[in-house]
Amino acid sequence: MSIDFTQVKQTPMYICELEKLENNLQILDKVQKESGAKVILALKGFAMHSTFDLVGKYLHGCTASGLHEAKLAREKMNKEVHTYSPAFKEEEIKEIALLSNDIVFNSPSQLLEFKDIVKEVNPDISISLRINPEYSESPVDLYNPCALFSRLGTTKANFNEEVLPFIDGLNFHALCEQDVSALEGVLKAFEQNFGKYISKMKYINFGGGHHITKKGYDVDKLIKVIKDFRSRYNNIEVYLEPGEAVGWETGVLVSTVLDIVDNGMKILILDTSAEAHMPDTLAMPYRAEVRGAAKANEKAFTYKLTGNTCLAGDIMGDYSFDTPLKVGDKIIFEDQIHYTFVKSTTFNGIKLPSLALWDRSKGLKIIKNFGYGDYKQRLS
Ligand SMILES: *Cc1c(COP(=O)(O)O)cnc(C)c1O
Repeated sequence: MSIDFTQVKQTPMYICELEKLENNLQILDKVQKESGAKVILALKGFAMHSTFDLVGKYLHGCTASGLHEAKLAREKMNKEVHTYSPAFKEEEIKEIALLSNDIVFNSPSQLLEFKDIVKEVNPDISISLRINPEYSESPVDLYNPCALFSRLGTTKANFNEEVLPFIDGLNFHALCEQDVSALEGVLKAFEQNFGKYISKMKYINFGGGHHITKKGYDVDKLIKVIKDFRSRYNNIEVYLEPGEAVGWETGVLVSTVLDIVDNGMKILILDTSAEAHMPDTLAMPYRAEVRGAAKANEKAFTYKLTGNTCLAGDIMGDYSFDTPLKVGDKIIFEDQIHYTFVKSTTFNGIKLPSLALWDRSKGLKIIKNFGYGDYKQRLS
């Protein structure tokens, strides 16, 4: 049974459907089993740790972007922890090294600066370097790690061979919501620029941005690309670290209509916010799907959906519905589990949406409610 919204007595609320999450994990597990690659969860995109027992049943661990994510990965999943930061701070490096199985440096200079400290506190740690393949088909520069003047990863020109005796792996991350053909392009550039080093490595990390769980993604082709790569390099270990593909289409953000005003058109004011609760709709930008709604004027009743902050641009967009809406109706935004609550803010003092799980046999379980304390605690 999919979510029964009569059980939702308070809003706003993010609801993750466990069955859908498990379906995604099973697709990722198929990739692991058939290609031999290991998949780890990028916490940056999805960090609902109440689901980590389930996630950890399938995936090999987490990829973290610094101390706090590494701590969460160790505390809540306790499998492999791979930690990458654009730059590490000296005062955090020891703690990060203790928490991590693999530490990924962004530049040869940081790698050479910290390699000894890291090995001293954790002799078993693997060290790798993020490289910039200088090739990406990423749709927008905001999400393009290979854009002009990118700080992310070491380019071929900046690759300092002095690091070679100290590294076990190379990482790249150059995709964003993309299919296998985009990966093939990146891989080709990677092999052209860095191919001579690959056989010296224990593993290569293909990063995230693989849209593996999206309908139509060619999973079998991905498996083949990974297997072919591995066989070219003596069965080298391969990692993938998707975030979005784990949380993709696993749940919703539910909100309630608070008021309807008319200023040239009917405008709904909701108890949620595009700016604070669905930030990528404004940053990417993209239009979130709304359950039962279509584009403006396709159905009989069109409304502008807006947020309850004082930011003029806090607008989700124009949507049309079959029947007129009224105060108290619920508006359900689809696919709001990845890159939403990991980024949400208390901007304007707006309440953070509750976090809930939907289990088809047990129904709705609210994991966490937020309140004034969460707003106040971040300020002084
Ligand atoms: C963001 C990020 C990921 C995850 O990307 P998705 O698009 O969520 O799959 C993986 N690795 C690195 C280094 C990242 O910055």
